[in-house]
Amino acid sequence: MSFDVIRVQGAREHNLQNLSLSIPKNRLVVLTGVSGSGKSSLAFDTLYAEGQRRYMESLSADARVWLGQLQKPEVDYIEGIPPAIAIGQNAYAGTSPRATVATATEIYDVLRILFAHCGTPHDPSTGRELRRYTVSEIVDRIVGESSQTLVQILAPVVEGQKGQFRDVVERLRREGFLRARIDGQWVLLEEVRGLAKGRAHTIEVVVDRLRVSPQARLRLADSVELALRLGGGRVRVVVGEEGPEAKEWLASVLPFDPQTGFCFGELTPRHFSFNNPLGACEACHGLGTELVVDADALISDPRAPLSELPFAPLAELPKGIRVAYGTAIRELAARYGERWDRSWEDCSLEFRRCVLWGENDSKASQDSATAKEHGWEGLVGALARLYREARSSFIQRKLEPYLSPAPCSRCGGTRLKSEIRAVTVASRGFGPMGIGEVVGLTVRKACQWVEGLFWEEGGQGNKAGRELQAQLRKRLRLLEEIGLGYLTLDRPLSSLSGGELQRIRIASQLGSQLSGVLYVLDEPSIGLHPRDHYRLLSVLRQIRDLGNTVIVVEHDEETIRASDYIIELGPKAGSQGGRVVACGTPQELQSNPRSLTGALLRGELRMTPPIERKKPQASLRVIGAKEHNLKNLTVAFPLGLFTCVTGVSGSGKSTLVMDVLARGLFRRLCGGRERPGAHEAMEGVEHIDRVIVVDQSPIGRSPRSNALSYCGILEPIRELFAQVPAARVRGYGPSRFSFNLAGGRCERCRGEGFVRIEMTLLPPMEVLCDHCQGRRFNRETLEITYKGKNIADVLDLTVEEALEFFRNVPRVREKLSVLAEMGLGYLRLGQPASTLSGGEAQRLKLATELSKRSTGRTVYLMDEPTTGLHQADIQKLLEVIRRLRDLGNTVIVIEHHLEVIQCADYVIDLGPEAGEEGGEIVAQGTPEEIAAHPGSITGQWLRKVMACPGPK
Ligand code: ADP
Ligand code: ADP
Ligand code: ZN
Ligand code: ZN
Repeated sequence: MSFDVIRVQGAREHNLQNLSLSIPKNRLVVLTGVSGSGKSSLAFDTLYAEGQRRYMESLSADARVWLGQLQKPEVDYIEGIPPAIAIGQNAYAGTSPRATVATATEIYDVLRILFAHCGTPHDPSTGRELRRYTVSEIVDRIVGESSQTLVQILAPVVEGQKGQFRDVVERLRREGFLRARIDGQWVLLEEVRGLAKGRAHTIEVVVDRLRVSPQARLRLADSVELALRLGGGRVRVVVGEEGPEAKEWLASVLPFDPQTGFCFGELTPRHFSFNNPLGACEACHGLGTELVVDADALISDPRAPLSELPFAPLAELPKGIRVAYGTAIRELAARYGERWDRSWEDCSLEFRRCVLWGENDSKASQDSATAKEHGWEGLVGALARLYREARSSFIQRKLEPYLSPAPCSRCGGTRLKSEIRAVTVASRGFGPMGIGEVVGLTVRKACQWVEGLFWEEGGQGNKAGRELQAQLRKRLRLLEEIGLGYLTLDRPLSSLSGGELQRIRIASQLGSQLSGVLYVLDEPSIGLHPRDHYRLLSVLRQIRDLGNTVIVVEHDEETIRASDYIIELGPKAGSQGGRVVACGTPQELQSNPRSLTGALLRGELRMTPPIERKKPQASLRVIGAKEHNLKNLTVAFPLGLFTCVTGVSGSGKSTLVMDVLARGLFRRLCGGRERPGAHEAMEGVEHIDRVIVVDQSPIGRSPRSNALSYCGILEPIRELFAQVPAARVRGYGPSRFSFNLAGGRCERCRGEGFVRIEMTLLPPMEVLCDHCQGRRFNRETLEITYKGKNIADVLDLTVEEALEFFRNVPRVREKLSVLAEMGLGYLRLGQPASTLSGGEAQRLKLATELSKRSTGRTVYLMDEPTTGLHQADIQKLLEVIRRLRDLGNTVIVIEHHLEVIQCADYVIDLGPEAGEEGGEIVAQGTPEEIAAHPGSITGQWLRKVMACPGPK
């Protein structure tokens, strides 16, 4: 039977109120509603969970055994559900640190095949192209060069290897060979016993010895072939009598350099993999990075006298090391004429440079092993060496904070061996390039590179080459289409934002051309400039048109308008949500008076920008920012204002705000250890005393970490339980009521509420703990009740419910009410941190900061705080931001949401485009000024929303 709808009957997962609905198949469906209304519960926890279950059922017997134990979503039944694939914000969580844009999209796999089949190898030391000979070419050369002279054909059997090689010599003798050249000496094999042990030897056996004449061709060809076979594809030809007069040359049927003798076996795709020892750089084993000491972080106090050794890690190292370094630095000071009581900042530049980088004053000394013998190697080099050579993990732990990853000095971060990097493929307009250089290109440039590939007509690689070219073209164009053209192919996935990751995964799904699948996506528009939304939509439509159902959890107005069908959940969050408020086409919703989305589509929810904006007074200035694509920017962030940093994705917003500003402030204000993005100076730091980054990074990855313990709500609740008379009688302290500590928790599951079952082939599965039924505490603990609820009952309350339950406990109530204000009233107190979305995590952090006392001189930095927020919730967020600002704080927000931007006091618009074509300030000023700016892309879009402010 086939269905053209997915029919859901009686869904009750989390807050869903016994939902029944039909979802059209092969359509682009948007699931919307205020946060906490149950969108994820329906999309991920019900539809996807069930789709995946069915899929596993069809997949593996191993899975079926456990299926009974796998928690079935709370739903009566679902009809017509296809196999499901979910693409969330944490799309690549847990993938290897080696994964890059190219590997995740399989572009790298295609490149490997291309390079193995069509690449031209070079000698990495000379850069000369390697060439391969045929047997007849070798014979021709012998005949042409050496008529009537004596020629010996040698096969290199052993080359520079340690060993005695008795067996080799014995075998050659048995096969009838008489002579050989061993380590340059001509010998009779008969006379050779074992070779000296422990030394490297070279054995070249004489295959033939003859006077050359054109008639000898046949014999020569036989001998050369035999030599090639014995010599692993290589043959050495010695021309003339043995002795200094003799000339000789090497030839090979494998790619090789006739002058250096550098030779290469047959190339396979595995050679180009940095996960394979064949290809991986020997120094970094394919990681591409090495740890170097961050010189800036070493000076703990530039104003302290030298005698106090103000070099940060020294104080923490064992005394012997400290004294040795101290003595060395003291000698240096004497030599440079620096007084021992002078402060670091008063010392001469030369001296300071020498202390850090050593006497030959070059950063290269960090890697030179011999620097030790050449006097002082510099603290940077010495500590890096200490770290590498340290036997004790104590020393390594102490040094770790001062180390940061830098590109591996051997492979330059390309992760590959030099000879692999020296294999090139030519493309018109680019010239020959190695695979490392190709993945260094941006997606956009790589598209051009692929177009420029060429093959000789009728040539061997021709057909395969064209096929590979087509594969690459398809995958790269998709990435470009989805708005990621600015990323370089070698970007580690770990450095990408959630939105970028998700789009990469969407693109690779389309690349796989599956059909009949249910895709569930979570706000794919995050991080995208409004200008680029249409691209994402077009890719989503393409996925649909392959015959798939695409369900998107989304708040973005444009996506909602472009969808085929909308399902709006609500009306509110948590227990007041979980129902279908409205569903239908965008037109149908627009005329539905009950629907919030309808109101959004009718333009009734538009935010009114403040009439009066705050004027900038003092500012915080970043001077000469050059990190990533920033073009030597000098930027003034007005203090005490709400500023939005805008621009297309990849223009440099996060680089400026997070890498440069945030880390720069951390380092200046509290000695932060993460290296700030490159910039020359910062002015105005004296006006602030605290910097707080509120980002979307997860609060805790393990199911043990509790979301609400992050903001300190659980401690007062535990204390409350310990105060209950029954608990005092039994002597239970607050820790008894924590499931992370032994004592009160269920020991069967160690307080996790479930046990994990390892399975072959599939990820481990989690099943409910049968001892505590998932309640996480032991029976004795659960006997203690406060107002009729035990600790497990309390953890099961939502914030809203708890607010009512604890209304007479001010300490608890205060904190809870901030959470409720932030629109998090639907969270359960015991909710594991790992179940929070990026946006929720961010709001929780924001709420936590809000419940602390504000100094009024704090800088708050946020990255797309509107993520996961419905229009109605965004109002709340804006109120919070305004409140922070009105207390005198500075709020700087990276944002694409136009209606938030129009509410800012000040806007800094970066661009004009992404990557190398970005990194400049296009416009800055009030939103009106940006909207009026002719060159600003953000301005163009801002004009649209600001032209039609909503009704009063
Ligand atoms: P949305 O996706 O619309 O923001 P969710 O589906 O995430 O909403 O949440 C709906 C309700 O279910 C909320 O009250 C939320 O607290 C609750 N909930 C979500 N995930 C869990 C979970 N893992 N355990 C318990 N309750 C949850
Ligand atoms: P935005 O925040 O505006 O989307 P980013 O600051 O993330 O832009 O990126 C600006 C440029 O810097 C882009 O070309 C991006 O590819 C590059 N970039 C960002 N982070 C890294 C990184 N960790 N390594 C290399 N390049 C990066
Ligand atoms: Zn390396
Ligand atoms: Zn248990």
